[in-house]
Amino acid sequence: NASVDEDCDYLFKMVLIGDSAVGKTNLLSRFAKDEFYLDSKPTIGVEFAYRNTKVGDKTVKAQIWDTAGQERFRAITSSYYRGALGAMLVYDITRQGTFDNIKKWLHELREFGDRDMVIVLVGNKTDLVDLREVDVEDGQKLAQLENLCFMETSAKDNLNVEDVFLQMITKIYSIAS
Ligand code: GDP
Repeated sequence: NASVDEDCDYLFKMVLIGDSAVGKTNLLSRFAKDEFYLDSKPTIGVEFAYRNTKVGDKTVKAQIWDTAGQERFRAITSSYYRGALGAMLVYDITRQGTFDNIKKWLHELREFGDRDMVIVLVGNKTDLVDLREVDVEDGQKLAQLENLCFMETSAKDNLNVEDVFLQMITKIYSIAS
């Protein structure tokens, strides 16, 4: 675990998961680019970025982990999930298969993750209107069924990206503080 900084009151670890090429890395770079510290860890194939945000009068440092392509080899390990307070479960609204696999990812999350982890279901690439295969209602229904937060985003158009990360941080804060 990272040591406590003087410049933040809380440090929240959050992980991004979902099939390959759904947009995890782009969502992260969108959110983190104002303050971008991307640490490469080639030996374990994990990258993460930080961003500070304010919740009330407190400063929260979000440490967000990206799989760096490990999901292709089904090689995400328990250490990836360890200590994570939040998980962003991402699918691509233009590929039904990535939505169908959400169940698999949820299963893994519940196996390795913390019991009270905040999970947000994210349907990404809403800018690709004509290519949509997954209706917004399908995402909503699944989220309701599995008791998750839900939002659709476009990393490309920068739509809801800030919102979805802030929603997660605020929710974690309300549980952790
Ligand atoms: P990851 O493998 O889940 O990390 O996915 P990436 O972030 O590498 O994105 C995979 C591909 O989808 C890249 O070609 C991105 O440019 C593209 N992509 C990511 N987000 C969006 C989006 O919101 N809209 C569109 N049109 N393309 C996106």
